Amino acid sequence: MEIRVLPLPAEAKKKKYTDESQLGFGKIFTDRLFIAEWKTGQGWVDARIEPYAPFQLDPACTVLHYAQEIFEGLKAYRWKDGSVALFRPEMNARRFNHSADRMCMPEVPEELFLKGVAELVKLEADWIPTAPGTSLYIRPTLIAVDPYLGVKPADHYYFYVILSPVGAYYAGGFNPVKIMVEDKYVRAVPGGTGEAKTGGNYASSLKSGMEAKQKGFDQVLWLDGMERRYIEEVGAMNMFFAYGDKVVTAPLEGTILNGVTRNSVITLAAELGFTVDERKVDIDTIMADIKSGKITEAFGSGTAAVITPVGALCYKDENVTLGNGGVGRLTQKLYDTLTGIQTGELADKFGWVRKL
Ligand SMILES: *Cc1c(COP(=O)(O)O)cnc(C)c1O
Repeated sequence: MEIRVLPLPAEAKKKKYTDESQLGFGKIFTDRLFIAEWKTGQGWVDARIEPYAPFQLDPACTVLHYAQEIFEGLKAYRWKDGSVALFRPEMNARRFNHSADRMCMPEVPEELFLKGVAELVKLEADWIPTAPGTSLYIRPTLIAVDPYLGVKPADHYYFYVILSPVGAYYAGGFNPVKIMVEDKYVRAVPGGTGEAKTGGNYASSLKSGMEAKQKGFDQVLWLDGMERRYIEEVGAMNMFFAYGDKVVTAPLEGTILNGVTRNSVITLAAELGFTVDERKVDIDTIMADIKSGKITEAFGSGTAAVITPVGALCYKDENVTLGNGGVGRLTQKLYDTLTGIQTGELADKFGWVRKL
């Protein structure tokens, strides 16, 4: 599909950030967005790149009432030689359609998804920060915009992509997080929407996250929704535990997000000589194995922070510290290797990088 590029009037140009250390995450957006519309009977129409501006949405529209919404998150990296690279974007395109199917929304052809992202990033490339650890966060989103209060899949959708320059997550060095194991609320149940990247999963997790913060924790560790027993995810990241040279993570059985970082970690850990087990592991075993020292390190994985070291866990008022509470060797190695590949400083053996 042709993408029209609308003019960017001088008054729509934003003032650029000057201090890359103040960028934070998801606070500022670039001058333009990509958008295409889907209508029943017509399919995808009118793909265009236009000045970034608020949408006019009917107060009755479906996304605002029944949450027909999905999104993605990936990054563009500025390499030292000035070129720009994406990391495994076709995995995001595929997952987007998996989410769309679950939420009864139209699929976005992979080619349209990838072209929309690539063309927008190319036009906005001067917004990509250059300091170590910084990147351009890309947020593809699909929303239902029908002005209709009946409960049914909508007939009109916006697929749009916005871009946000983001700062270094670990500007002051790695910060191991303190995790509260959530034994009251659940994130997902078999047959639910846990495997879809949809806003409702985040809305329903906020209360748990807030209560954990009030108790002094950074994030929560989700247990399975049936027995509140098996490890699932940590915040909005996939969760890994290392037993010496063995790594375990929850299997993809419909209740956890199929992370691009998770998949990359599994491949890299195997390459580094670790055995990776995707299997159910219960929290009592985890607590016992941390106390006995069998579990040597733990970390979360996701696009925003890449790898997040876990320093301590609290379950039913019992606190345990992982290793020495610092950053484990595998955690550090995976972080260095993944970010090295993404920024072009390490060779990309697996063919993950897409240069624009
Ligand atoms: C997006 C997301 C992840 C991480 O996926 P990546 O592709 O690695 O960024 C993990 N868990 C949840 C709930 C998510 O929404």
